[in-house]
Amino acid sequence: MIPGGGRRALVALLAVAAVAVSGCDSKGGGTGGGPVQDNGAGSVSGLPVTHFESGLKPDAPKPKLNVRNADGGEDDKLATAAIDDVQTYWGEMLPANFGEQFEPVKSLLSYDAQSDTEETGCGSVKKLVNAFYCPVDDSVAWDRGVLLPMLRQRFGPMSVVVVLAHEFGHAVQYRLGDKAGIAKNTPTVVKEQQADCFAGGYFRWVAEDKSKFYRVSTSEGLNQVMASMFLIRDQAGTSAADKGAHGTAFDRTYAFQAGFEKGPKECAGMNTENVKARLTERPFDKGDKGKGDAKFNAQTVALLKKSLDEAFKGAGVAAPEITDGGSCQTTPPASYCPDDNTVSIDMAKLAQLAQPIDRQAEMQGEDPGGMGDFAAFSEVAARYALGIQKGVGASIDNANAGLRTACLVGAWAAFTNRPGDLRLSAGDLDEAIADLLQPESLVSADVKGKRPDSGFDRVEALRKGYLEGSSVCSKSYA
Ligand SMILES: [Zn+2]
Repeated sequence: MIPGGGRRALVALLAVAAVAVSGCDSKGGGTGGGPVQDNGAGSVSGLPVTHFESGLKPDAPKPKLNVRNADGGEDDKLATAAIDDVQTYWGEMLPANFGEQFEPVKSLLSYDAQSDTEETGCGSVKKLVNAFYCPVDDSVAWDRGVLLPMLRQRFGPMSVVVVLAHEFGHAVQYRLGDKAGIAKNTPTVVKEQQADCFAGGYFRWVAEDKSKFYRVSTSEGLNQVMASMFLIRDQAGTSAADKGAHGTAFDRTYAFQAGFEKGPKECAGMNTENVKARLTERPFDKGDKGKGDAKFNAQTVALLKKSLDEAFKGAGVAAPEITDGGSCQTTPPASYCPDDNTVSIDMAKLAQLAQPIDRQAEMQGEDPGGMGDFAAFSEVAARYALGIQKGVGASIDNANAGLRTACLVGAWAAFTNRPGDLRLSAGDLDEAIADLLQPESLVSADVKGKRPDSGFDRVEALRKGYLEGSSVCSKSYA
C-alpha cells in the first residue's frame, strides 16, 4: 500500500444490515461474466467439501502415450497420466461444446533443465525451467528436473497436474483458433487467462470424479492447485501488456475458478476486451516507493483505521478501535474483542508479517521473510470487519462469517484503490491471497479463528467483495 497525502470524497460501502435475515442466495449475484455460482461454506462451487488424499487413483490405468526422453520417474508418471487424462476430457468437451473433433497432440517431451539439450519446434530446452506447448510441432514438453519436482514437493501431485492441464489448454486454444477468438495479435495475458480457465474446467471434471486417473478433494486438493498458481504468479508490478505476462495470482485464480464454475465455453469467450476490463495486473505507479510496501507502524495503522472508518461508514454502527496490546488475544496477531468493540493487535508481529516477500527465497522454499504489507493490513481489516458485522447483528462465529469477512476485506480493498491516505498498490491483492491460502489465514477467519477448509472458497469470497462491493457479501454468505 502507499500512504499518501490528501483527502478524498467519502464513498460509503453499502451496509451489511441484511446479513442476519436474508436467505441463502445460492445462484445469485455476479457481474461482468465473472464466476457467480456457489455461496457459503457448505460447498465449493456447488460441489460438496471433501477431504481425502488427492493424486493418482490407486487403480489408475497405465497411460498409453509415447513420451520422448522420459526417465519414468515420479514426475514423468504424473505428467504423462495428466496428459492422457486431459486428452480424454477434451475428447468429450470439444465435440460437446464446440462441435469439433479432438486430435491428440503430436508429440510429448520430458527433459531435465539442468542437463538436457533436446530440441522442439520452438528451440532447445537447455536450462528451461518450464513446461510449454509448442504450436510449431504441436508438442507439449515439461521439465522433470527442476520445475515439476519443486512443485510436487512443495504442494503435492496436483500441482504437476495443473501445470500440464494449463499447457494443454494452449493446445486446445490452437485447435479452436477463431472459436476461441485467438488471433496473431492476441495479447499473451489473454491466452494465459484462457489456458488457466481451461485447466479449471478440467479440474471440475476431476472433482466430479469423472477421471480414470486422478482424484482431487475440494478442500486440501484444490488448495494445492491454488497454492501452485500463487507461486507461479507474475512478479508484482508487471504490466499486463508485457510480452510474457501471465497475470497476478488474483487474475490467475479468477480464470481458473471461472473455468471450474462455468466450463470451457466461458473460457473460449475470454477476449482482449473483457479480460482487460477486469485484470488487476499493473505496473507500480510513478512515485511508488519501496515497491508498494508500506511500513506497518503506529502511523500507518492510524491511516488504516481512517480508511476502514470511511469505507464502513454506511453501516451506521460504532467503529471498532484498534489498539496495540488490547483487551483480548483470541486470534493473535490480530483479534476482535466483542466485549469492548476493539481490534487488539500485536504491532511487532504484524510489522514482521508486513515485510516484503523475498521472491527468491519463496521460489526456493525458504522463509520468504514476510507476506507483504497488505497481508498485515488485511488481517487487521478482517478483524475490524467482524466488529462491523457484529454491529449490524450478523453472526461472527461460524464458517460463513469467515467468508463474509474475507468478502468485506475485498470490498475494502476496492475502496482503497484510488488516491487517498492509504492507497492500494500493485501486488497488494496477491498479498491478501497469500494470506488466504495459509492454513492460519486470519483474513477468512471468524471471531474465534476458525476458517472454512476450502481455499477456493476463501479466495473467491475476497474477489467477490473486490469486484462487486460489500452488498454481495451479506447476500452470498448469509
Ligand atoms: Zn501458458
